[in-house]
Amino acid sequence: MIEYFISLRPMSCNKMKLFFISLFFILLQTSCNDKPKEILSVVDTNTKTEAKTKIEKKNIPKDTLNITSDFVLGKFDYKSDSTFVKVESRYSVKEIYLNHLVYQAFLKMAKAAKRDSIDLKILSGTRNFYEQKAIWNRKWNRYSNLNPTERSKKILEYSSMPSTSRHHWGTDIDLNSLNNSYFNTGKGLRTYTWLKEHANNFGFYQVYTNKNNGRTGYNEEKWHWSFVPLASKYLDFYNSNIKTEDISGFEGSQLAKDLRIIEDFVNGIPNEIKKYKKQYTP
Ligand SMILES: [Zn+2]
Repeated sequence: MIEYFISLRPMSCNKMKLFFISLFFILLQTSCNDKPKEILSVVDTNTKTEAKTKIEKKNIPKDTLNITSDFVLGKFDYKSDSTFVKVESRYSVKEIYLNHLVYQAFLKMAKAAKRDSIDLKILSGTRNFYEQKAIWNRKWNRYSNLNPTERSKKILEYSSMPSTSRHHWGTDIDLNSLNNSYFNTGKGLRTYTWLKEHANNFGFYQVYTNKNNGRTGYNEEKWHWSFVPLASKYLDFYNSNIKTEDISGFEGSQLAKDLRIIEDFVNGIPNEIKKYKKQYTP
């Protein structure tokens, strides 16, 4: 077609028809191609905006004093809470969420550990009321030969009543193995020795230590580490706002008072951690 404009020779009628028909199809094709592009570009912009908003939200530290009773009792959905983040698969064995400040501190600790050839893997992080209830019920059925008090005490050796677990808060992690003996030799011992020496520098403390100094509650757990700068605030709130009557909704919950669940288990941590008052600065 272009040659006609270049040569400036008059076109015949048929050639003119052919020219305009061709031009019509070219324009039609161009206009069809343009529309989907426009829609795509709108979608792209929206997706980018949404993604950006999500990232920005995660970067805004939540006012840690804005704590509710439902939160400390585990009655909330951490997966849709913007202050919680998913742990990368290289540091976890399944889908695990943590409070984002806790996760940042964990990443620093895990990287420092890696430099010393220690691998830290999170086996369990945040658990809500219902997930804790599933654990409780499974063990409740396992010990069905015992009376309700003995049954609860047996479970309480290592597991919490729903609404009383530090795992509700997104501040506590179980690392590498759920077996104390793993940490007594070889790789496990090297990992535990490293944690004892360095974890406090990153804000993590073993809260269920041996009971030689009169600590009450759960048995020793060498795998359970708590980010105390934040957890201590949640524990303060718990002690000021939660009563035994708030612990309900599962088999055996009526025993919470007699078993001194809040006094001996929720507060069954070493004295130096109870006194922890250092403010956390990210
Ligand atoms: Zn634990």
